[in-house]
Amino acid sequence: MKGLRMRILVVLILVFAFAMAKTELVRADSSVRSIKVCVLNDAKHPIDETIIGETLAKVFKEWREKTGIQFKFDHVILHDPVTLPSLFSQQEDCLEQENEQIKAVCPLGSEVKILFSGFWKEGAKLGTACRDSGIIKIYKPNKTLVNHELGHALGLGHSVNYRSFMAWFPGVPLYQYTAIEWTDEEIKIIKENKHKKWQ
Ligand SMILES: [Zn+2]
Repeated sequence: MKGLRMRILVVLILVFAFAMAKTELVRADSSVRSIKVCVLNDAKHPIDETIIGETLAKVFKEWREKTGIQFKFDHVILHDPVTLPSLFSQQEDCLEQENEQIKAVCPLGSEVKILFSGFWKEGAKLGTACRDSGIIKIYKPNKTLVNHELGHALGLGHSVNYRSFMAWFPGVPLYQYTAIEWTDEEIKIIKENKHKKWQ
């Protein structure tokens, strides 16, 4: 009888320990990482703010659900980079001065910076991302494209899976991809980089 009670006690302790461990796992996985986003619109070649707002709302909802990252922004800042025209052009990417100028314009605490510009020439890139500074440039607002560039900022590379939102094949514009699957591997990498800090 004593042995039976002992066994029941051991089983109860194990069940309790397992339940606690599981709760801890679930808690860790569902922790929300809030990332403040600064959104700039090219004053010379602006993109319709309704389109920017709608695109970002869709993108941010998807990231919240898939990765537990909550992107937040206050309002779109119309910006005319007179001192640094490269800010809204595809000529140069990831310049140190660009980062400095954006920081001066963006609200304090902004982490990811998304720049929109309607200035785009046929054959040029539709979007770019700087992994270190968290600066993203978008020339054709589209959910897949913004997801893709945010993916780069959160540490993802290109995918050979044509259904993935990180797919990239020479000659095919990103906005032509309609399948935007998130693979388990991509979600895993993003979650690992969830607390990344940009310069
Ligand atoms: Zn890419």
